[in-house]
This record gives sequence, C-alpha cells and structure tokens, in this order.
Amino acid sequence: MKIVIANCVGIDSDGHTIIPYPSRWTTSARNHKDAFTYYPKDLGYLSTLLKRDTGHDVKLVDACLERYDKETYAKVITSEKPDWLIMESSTRTITDDLWVARKVKEVCGAKIMMTGQHPSAFAQETLKNCDVVIRGEFLAPALKFFKNGVGQTGVVIEFDKSSLIDVKDLPYPEDEDVSRFDYALKGDPICQYKEIQLYTSRGCPYRCIYCVASHTYYGGPDWRPRSEDDVVEEMRQLFQKYPDCEGIFFDDEIHNADIKRIKRLCKAIIAAGLNDKKYNAMCAYHTFDHEALTLMKEAGYYLVRVGIETASDEVARGLWLKGKHRPAKLRAFLEMAKEIGIEVYGTFTMGGPGSNEVEDRKTIWLMKELIEENYISDCQVSICVPQPGAPFFDIVSQSGDISGRSWSDYDGGTTGVVDYPGYSAKRIKEIRDEAMTAYDEARYIRDRVRFKSNWADEVSKITKEPHGILLFRSSRDWHLALVLNAIKESWPMARVSMLCHENHTAVYSKDFPWLDLIVYRSDGFINIDSLNDDALSKMKSMSADVAFIPSNIYHCRGYSNVTEVAQKSGATRLFFINSAGVIIPVDDLYGK
Ligand code: SF4
Repeated sequence: MKIVIANCVGIDSDGHTIIPYPSRWTTSARNHKDAFTYYPKDLGYLSTLLKRDTGHDVKLVDACLERYDKETYAKVITSEKPDWLIMESSTRTITDDLWVARKVKEVCGAKIMMTGQHPSAFAQETLKNCDVVIRGEFLAPALKFFKNGVGQTGVVIEFDKSSLIDVKDLPYPEDEDVSRFDYALKGDPICQYKEIQLYTSRGCPYRCIYCVASHTYYGGPDWRPRSEDDVVEEMRQLFQKYPDCEGIFFDDEIHNADIKRIKRLCKAIIAAGLNDKKYNAMCAYHTFDHEALTLMKEAGYYLVRVGIETASDEVARGLWLKGKHRPAKLRAFLEMAKEIGIEVYGTFTMGGPGSNEVEDRKTIWLMKELIEENYISDCQVSICVPQPGAPFFDIVSQSGDISGRSWSDYDGGTTGVVDYPGYSAKRIKEIRDEAMTAYDEARYIRDRVRFKSNWADEVSKITKEPHGILLFRSSRDWHLALVLNAIKESWPMARVSMLCHENHTAVYSKDFPWLDLIVYRSDGFINIDSLNDDALSKMKSMSADVAFIPSNIYHCRGYSNVTEVAQKSGATRLFFINSAGVIIPVDDLYGK
C-alpha cells in the first residue's frame, strides 16, 4: 500500500508563503518565496517509523520546502498514486490543506488522515472532510493504524496520554525523501551557521496558556528526553553525511528542562570531539546555572533561545508562565551568559491575557534595555494569538473577545484577533508596532560600534570606487540607517539610489535628503513579480556599478527574491551587507 505523508501547503490561496513552526504555530510572509522553513519534525519521524515497522511504500513530501501552491501540491501528491494521504495541518492553513486533501481523494481515490493542531481542536468538523482524524501527538496512533493492515475509517482517534511515543522506539527522522540539510540551507534567520534541526527530547513540563505543543500535542505537562549517547550518535551520522553542515539547532520544545542532562550531553559532545561545531537551542532561562552554561560554551553552543515573554507580573499570571517567570533569575542568567560568551535570543509577546497598554509597555522597555545593554543579541516580538486547542482560545471564545474573521487571521505572531474591553486588536497591533520601533532604535544604538568597526575592514572588498550605488529596502530600518551612513562616509561623491516601499519614502527622504529614492509600489518583500516597470527602468537608467542588498540576517540566505531584482537592475557588482557590516559577494551565496 502506498502512503504519502504531507506537510501543509507552501503558498496559500492569497499568495502568502507559509512558514510552519512544527507543533507551535504557523506564520506566513508576503511576496517571499525564498522564505526559510523548518523541518516537519513529526511527519519526518512518522515517515521513518512507518518505513521501519510496516511493509508499506511510504513517501514524505513537503510543499513548504518546494514552495508549492495548493494546485501544484495536489498534482505532486496525486502523481504518487497514494492509497492513503496523511497531512499535518494548523489553523492558518486548514482551508487550503483540506482543499488539497479533497482534490487528491477526488482524482485518485486516496483515503485521508488528518493530524495536527487544527484537526485536533476541531476533530469532528475535520472528519467531515476526511476518513480519519488523530487528535494530539500522532506517531504511535498512526503507526498502530497502519501496522498489521489498516484501522477503522470514519473515526476520530482520541488523544490518549498513555499512547505518547516512547523516545527509545524512535528511529532518526526522514532524510531520504527530503534532505535534512536542505532545511539548514534554507536558513532559519536566527541560526548563524548551516545547522540541521535535531530533537533531543519530546514534550514540555510547562503549560503556557497559548501553547499548542503542550496542550494539543502532549495533553499537558510531559517531557521525554532521549539518551545522550543516542543524540550524539545522530549528530555524528549527520556530520559524516553532510560535510558542509556547520552545526545543529536543537529545536526541542525545551532543551534544558533537566539541567543535569544538559551537562551530561555537553560532556558527551566534547568526548565525541564534536565541540568544533556550532550549536544553538530552544531553552528556558530559569534552569540554567554557571556550570551548565560554561560546559555548553565548551561544547560549541554559541546561542540559546529563551522565552522572556513579558516584564509584567500581571501578564505572566495571565499567560500561566508560573515558574518560568522569574525576573531575578532572568537577570542572573543574562549576566552569566554575557560573562561566559553565549548569545541570548529572547522572545516577547504582546496582547496576551492580562495585558493592556501599560503592562505591555513595561515589556517594550525591558526589551529595549536588554538589547542596548547587550544582554540579548536579538529577539522576537509577537502578538499572542489564541490558537485553537490552547486554553487561551477557549477562554477568549467563551468571553466573546475574539475578533478573528477567518482561520487565515490566526497567523502566528503579527495579527491581532482578540478585542479585550479597553484593549482592542487594532491597539494591540499598534503597541506591537511601537515595540518594533523601539527594537530598531535599540539595535541602532547597540550595533553601530560593531558595524562601523567591521565596515572599516570590509570596505576594501569594493576594490574600484563606485560612482553609482543602488541599494534596496530589504532590511530593518536600524540596519539600513547604518548602511546608508557607512556608504555616504565611504563614497561621499557617489550617487546613491534606493528601491524603497512607497509608504516609507517620506521618512527616508527626510532622514537622508541626499538619497535618491526609487518607489517600489508593492508591499511585502521586494521581488521581481511585484516590481513596477517605472522602478525597473529607473534602476537600469542609473547604470549603477555596485548594488548592495542589506540583510539584517547574519548569513544573508533567503534573499534570492531581491537578488533577482538586483540582477535585473543592470548593476555590475552585487554584494550583501549583513547585520554586522560584513560585505559578502552575492556570487558566494547564489553563484554567478
Ligand atoms: S515552555 Fe510554554 S510555550 Fe514553550 S513548549 Fe513549554 S508550554 Fe509551550
């Protein structure tokens, strides 16, 4: 029997590029076909489980890796002639995913199994569109379903905590039908190296009110660590198979739930001689101690990602952060990490339960201070979205505060769907925008010294003095300000033009009156499909001898869309300028 296992659609019906964060949330980007994507963790495990333990012909396909829209995806899946299609779906993509499933069923008669966040939250409703729904973590139930024949159809397989997979039974996830290294090359913007995603544990001992993973997949607190030896063996095999792989992103729900285990893992990495690679990990700050961070540094960890979420005790209570919210412990951890030399990436959220303008502004001030004082190297500021399946959704649904109109509004992070009395979704979005302005200010203040110092060395890479310089509004404002100032200082006589989104031209013409602005009339990421003809003609007519593509991402990957525009502009030499002021020839990343 042929079974196709499929991730959600890669491009939705509105043309948005979909970025699923497996078991957490799904977000999207406009006009950004080269956006990164994460390895589909549980689908990858299911693929190797079914291949190992059943006699079926199994294939994993990922529309997010290939950037398929729903029509193309349905054709690709249908061409495999599956008897069964298994999909993992979230609220953000459920409408398009079910379209694909129905199309596949219509064309080749395949039966459909739906899993994931949205099917778990609305199981009976989803069942109307498919043959089987599995609620919660689906590895063990799906294996049971397809082992020794096929299980019963027309049913919802309910979540059963005793059916969570034993991590000792897990093979390494799929690496043949899709390459795990391809996801490293896609370049999660926070990773600074080419890092494969690897999972050393399953579950999480906490139950934050907004969390899909804890509530929907694992049925509440649960944490299943793999043995250190098994983790190190998987790492060794990956580094052997992919010599260009520079490190690992430990994308656990929480890597350091047991700090003693982290110390053992670090010692095992060092003993295996793998401490010459680079590692970063999803962590919680409150379990760290000095010894653990020191060992991590020795083992090759350069960055830890921690949820700070809020500066407000009131919001922390509303978010059910409980033991995760410890302001004194946060300060102590940040001091230790700074002293030891491990970078910290922090996550913050706005508009959660218990929030209002006053409380969320406390979080903005904290974020700004931590960036300016270099306690965190970077951060994410999201809007707290009540995802179906998490208690936050049930609470705001019952109180009638929800204002999301369609499932595609449940984008992870930037769309407000809750109207509290006195704190509307619109106002939450404005406060989040305020946070991003504060972020830009803080990054400018903190990063200018490093940027200027690197630029002084890097500028010699532009061997012939440019007379016409073209650049693109392809980075955040703090970074563009540093780039523009550096260019003006280095080549004061050059004519400098920037392709700039229409709604930002007023600010740039005020702050940089010497800059010639070419208006880009679309929104989202700059790309050739949306480029207006007059902008292209203007770029060509300036005959730039150098084009710079500013990237606030360290590794500059994921910029092929704007690179295509730069290549069409007629500029003779193309370079990225990264967040640290390093100049990278475009050919080094995208070839000639
Ligand atoms: S720490 Fe909170 S948000 Fe993170 S996985 Fe655990 S419950 Fe979810």
